[in-house]
Amino acid sequence: MKTIKIVLVFFIMAWITSCSTDNNLDEIVDENEVFIYRIHVVVHVVHYGEPIGQGANISYEQVKSQIEVLNEDFRKMVGTNGYNDNPVGADTTIEFVLADKDPDGNLLTEPGIDRINGGRSEWPKGVFRNPIETSLKPTYYWDPSQYFNIWTINFGGFVSRDLLGYAQFPSRSGLPGLNADGGSAETDGVVIGYKYFGSSEKGDFPELVAPYDLGRTATHEVGHWLGLRHIWGDGDCSNDDYCLDTPNASAPNYDCASIKISCDEPEMPQNYMDYSYDNCMNIFTENQKKRMITVLKNSIRRKELIGY
Ligand code: ZN
Ligand code: CA
Repeated sequence: MKTIKIVLVFFIMAWITSCSTDNNLDEIVDENEVFIYRIHVVVHVVHYGEPIGQGANISYEQVKSQIEVLNEDFRKMVGTNGYNDNPVGADTTIEFVLADKDPDGNLLTEPGIDRINGGRSEWPKGVFRNPIETSLKPTYYWDPSQYFNIWTINFGGFVSRDLLGYAQFPSRSGLPGLNADGGSAETDGVVIGYKYFGSSEKGDFPELVAPYDLGRTATHEVGHWLGLRHIWGDGDCSNDDYCLDTPNASAPNYDCASIKISCDEPEMPQNYMDYSYDNCMNIFTENQKKRMITVLKNSIRRKELIGY
């Protein structure tokens, strides 16, 4: 979960998503003969009747810019914001592609996009009254063993006005630090505010809000969806993220201006699983990669996505 300044640190529930169909499955290696875990994505663009390209009814170009950022970040692509030269920085070998077909096998006119008039302009995410979890997602999800479901919405209401996005954790990964049950199939995926989805460096998307306008909210939430915990362990120095190559920290960072030492070692605010601004994030570590690949090989609805 990622919020502006206000940190809601509890993991009572976890939310998730993902996808790819048999005819989508490829035995994929990249130009260096590295096996690639390729995940097919559907973005449910939840709007309130706005024309395409206005307000919450974001354009295909904005969605595409976000998928590009995910690939730059997860592949540590040279020449992009996602590159780093840290000794523990990983190319996770995970990629994302917008689905070309809907669940009935029909070609999508806009790849990977499912436009939905959700019938309301704002979506509160309260603990007790939560129309996103109880109504929106169960009504509009696509089979999460075939598609990675992302919902873009306009967060609103007292409890979630500052929310950037949140994710459902994987189930039955066997990893420490995760519940066996991350949540149900019909809510599996990530939800992201449309003002934080996409990159202002890749097009004219005036509704994106700096400093969260470079697509790193999605990178962070997909990290959760693939089993990563916050880098500071959601607690003081005694709480860990279950990754040996990420430093302990006593609290999140909100920028990368100075490298703090809170638990006897320099922190890593550039990590995607911190709360730093988009423009200073650029690293998943090798241990974080290992957790995510473990999820893709073992978790229900995740392993089907990549053909296990
Ligand atoms: Zn988070
Ligand atoms: Ca650690």
